Amino acid sequence: MPPRVSAYEMVSVRSALEAILERARPLGRETVGLTQARGRVLAEDIHADDDLPGLPRSSVDGYAVIAADDATTVDVLEEVTAGRLAQAQVRKGTAVRIMTGGTLPDGADAVVMVEDVDEQDGHAVLQHRPRSGENVHPPGMDLQRGQLVLSAGNVIGAAEVGLLATVGCTDVPVFRRPRVAVLATGDELVEPHAAPPPGSVRDSNRFALIAAAQEAGAEVVWQAHARDEEGALTEAMRRGLQAADVLLTSGGVSMGTRDLIKPILERMASVHFGRVSFKPGKPLTFATTAEGKLAFGLPGFPVSSLITFEVFVRPALRKLGGAAKVMRPRIEVALAHDVRPDPVRPEYQRANVTWQGGRFQARTTGLQSSSRLMSIVGANALLELEPGSQTLPAGTMVQALLLANL
Ligand code: AMP
Ligand code: MG
Repeated sequence: MPPRVSAYEMVSVRSALEAILERARPLGRETVGLTQARGRVLAEDIHADDDLPGLPRSSVDGYAVIAADDATTVDVLEEVTAGRLAQAQVRKGTAVRIMTGGTLPDGADAVVMVEDVDEQDGHAVLQHRPRSGENVHPPGMDLQRGQLVLSAGNVIGAAEVGLLATVGCTDVPVFRRPRVAVLATGDELVEPHAAPPPGSVRDSNRFALIAAAQEAGAEVVWQAHARDEEGALTEAMRRGLQAADVLLTSGGVSMGTRDLIKPILERMASVHFGRVSFKPGKPLTFATTAEGKLAFGLPGFPVSSLITFEVFVRPALRKLGGAAKVMRPRIEVALAHDVRPDPVRPEYQRANVTWQGGRFQARTTGLQSSSRLMSIVGANALLELEPGSQTLPAGTMVQALLLANL
């Protein structure tokens, strides 16, 4: 008979996260090209290499003139388009026709929009006298040489790629992505393409965890399924840890006779905790090897496995990958209906949050069973419910982790 009481102390969500994050350090860096940079984490501060614009530039199509000139009819000397410099110098009584983005000719200090000018036979009649600087972008308006434009730890998106290109940073310094190994365990598992015989289930955790790790910015370098047999499990876990920075196992961390992951981890690594006051996923286990690799024993039930990933593994992967922000944003939401919390453990219920009546409203995704993946599909938030014996009435404000767009 297995023991009825776990040997592991029950730790809080906060101390579990602290134990994980203090052992997750950025892994190293590499450089990538601009078209490969999206989604990566910048490893160095980036500064502007020059002023932008470098010279005063017209922000409209029009006529470059001297603001202090009082002439309303001026001679048009030439035309400048973006990328070409004017030959002529603008003096009183003259103007240069200029296109958007064109560099202001010498002498000129303002541009009159084409809509306010009638040009005929080389003469332009200005219906409006501009002030100095009107419709002109001065040098350094967008960027100043030496200015910090992006900080290490920023996640690179479209605007960041644009800025990197603007300042000529083509070998983009990024943190190396964490390498992850995923091992599904369980005698009852069959491959997803197979029809499960009675008593078996398709292995969904392996694929869900691979996707979750990829979404978190990691590279999945190794994956396998092992039976609940000590030799096979030990061998598979060794291989996974050899191939990767982080090993994720699913299943085999509860109190059953076939739950072998914890004792194996005890032999090949230091186990920092083996139980968390958390629902769904109390038996979550975390260990590190002598080389500093991380191993997470995630529970087998599909929801427990993904939600413990979300709350505990994802921050670790973000931190290993150098991201400055590792946690999901937290918001306050109003319950759209009564919700019953767990009496003893903080519970992370899956919900759909929408903006309604001037506030965020959360509707849970139906039955919150740890086996029911349908409770995660369509959820954009995790409600963080404190334990309690009272039902929380509709309208109660609770905290939520925001998982996706609202
Ligand atoms: P365990 O934590 O190993 O006792 O697993 C608990 C339950 O989770 C099992 O009885 C299965 O129903 C389910 N389960 C475990 N591993 C997987 C998996 N890889 N994919 C889908 N379901 C799983
Ligand atoms: Mg199992």
